Amino acid sequence: MEAAGGETLEDRNPATGELTALVPLSGAADIDAAARAAREAQPAWRAVAPQKRARAVIALREALWDRQEDIARLVTEDMGKTLDDARGEVVRGIESTEAACGIPHLLKGENLEGVARGVDVELVRQPVGVVGAITPFNFPAMIPLWFLPYAIACGNTFILKPSERDPRPSELIFELIDSIDALPDGVLNLVHGAHDAVNGLLDHPEIDAISFVGQASTARYIAERSAASGKRFQALGGAKNSLIVMPDADLDVTVPAIMSSAFGAGGQRCLAGSVAVLVGTPEEQDRSLNALAEAAAALGVGPGDQDGVEVCPLVGPEARDRIAAAVEAAESGDDELVLDGRRDAGPGGSLIGPSIVATAETESELAREELFGPLLAVVRVDDLDGALEFANGSRYGNAGSIFTTSGGAARAYRWGAEAGMLGVNVGVAAPVAWFPFSGWKDSIDGDLHANGKDAVEFYTRKKVVTSRW
Ligand code: NAD
Repeated sequence: MEAAGGETLEDRNPATGELTALVPLSGAADIDAAARAAREAQPAWRAVAPQKRARAVIALREALWDRQEDIARLVTEDMGKTLDDARGEVVRGIESTEAACGIPHLLKGENLEGVARGVDVELVRQPVGVVGAITPFNFPAMIPLWFLPYAIACGNTFILKPSERDPRPSELIFELIDSIDALPDGVLNLVHGAHDAVNGLLDHPEIDAISFVGQASTARYIAERSAASGKRFQALGGAKNSLIVMPDADLDVTVPAIMSSAFGAGGQRCLAGSVAVLVGTPEEQDRSLNALAEAAAALGVGPGDQDGVEVCPLVGPEARDRIAAAVEAAESGDDELVLDGRRDAGPGGSLIGPSIVATAETESELAREELFGPLLAVVRVDDLDGALEFANGSRYGNAGSIFTTSGGAARAYRWGAEAGMLGVNVGVAAPVAWFPFSGWKDSIDGDLHANGKDAVEFYTRKKVVTSRW
């Protein structure tokens, strides 16, 4: 695809630095064309029976299964994560698509007979209209698929603006959709670009709702600008997730789970555990810390398409330099640099290994702000109350986990933790597609999460009809 203005942005493989694509920067004219096409197609698409819309989504699901390996390889090439991780991401996206295949069931309304003599009430769900989705770089295949299948299954038409840093998996998904020929023109539309494209979507009068995932600051911006133009929005933001390690934790389970959570995908997940909260006496805390440091030092670092690699390159050299600067600041300040991941950044300038920093101060940027890289902060506390107090002191509330062999501690955590997605002895507590995905506090603006019943709620408007016969 080309943007009307002809401007482009370079897309590079983070492992090799190789130029892989020139991303067209869509401007107002491109957004307007997409919005008009989507608006024009919507009434006819809405009139297609829900089970036939579901069949189109089933065809998409089959096409995604057929090409899952190609999509995963493109994710690794464009974003950097390991192939195994990319394969898992694609399966998660397919599962969201699968969940949306049940739309006839999910769309059913409610009714109440006889509220007065001869009077019945029914609630029906109708599509919102035209939906725009703006997605981040870290799950370039899965996150577009959180939104697209549900939105169209509900009878909406849809415009996707993927991250300008790795849009190629979305391009491939749209090529697949074209090839199966299951959808009328205008139902799905792809635009590329960065902030101007986003602003074009947020301001366009023909777009009714915006689904967004990205940093918390961008989410707030999306929420405010969507509200200003009267749009419905769901804006999922960033995170700083605590992993609580109780003194009774089984370290054989805990340590690998924390390695994957803190350092998998280079720490570039909204579910990444970026603070380990070590509970107990100083000796118990040291036991946990030593086990984490030893395992992290043994992780394989390198390009995502190589066997044995667990810590992949970051999305680009700026991300790598940001993490290297945070490690340097920890080294020169009062924090204790337990493991230094700085190393040769590789041909793409994006590689950095896992680092662990025991923070001197619990309210530091390292302990409280999302850094989005393979840098695990460590905080020490005496007991579970102290751990919960630290974790709940975050402005974010996306996710968190506890590692323990005590059912009582696990229950107290579930009861008291202020976050939307919790793990018990699970490092990356990603809800499967049939449940809502998102957090609390500054990790979301808007109230409806992605996936599951929330998706149907977001992509439909309710209408209540009161009849007397
Ligand atoms: P980002 O906010 O930089 O970008 C997300 C999207 O917003 C992109 O499409 C980008 O083009 C657009 N954008 C960015 N800045 C903008 C601006 N100033 N004006 C208009 N548009 C703008 O996010 P990212 O770096 O691509 O993704 C990583 C972030 O996403 C992390 O903070 C991560 O925690 C978060 N995330 C959250 C979830 C969740 O479920 N809550 C899931 C995945 C990622």
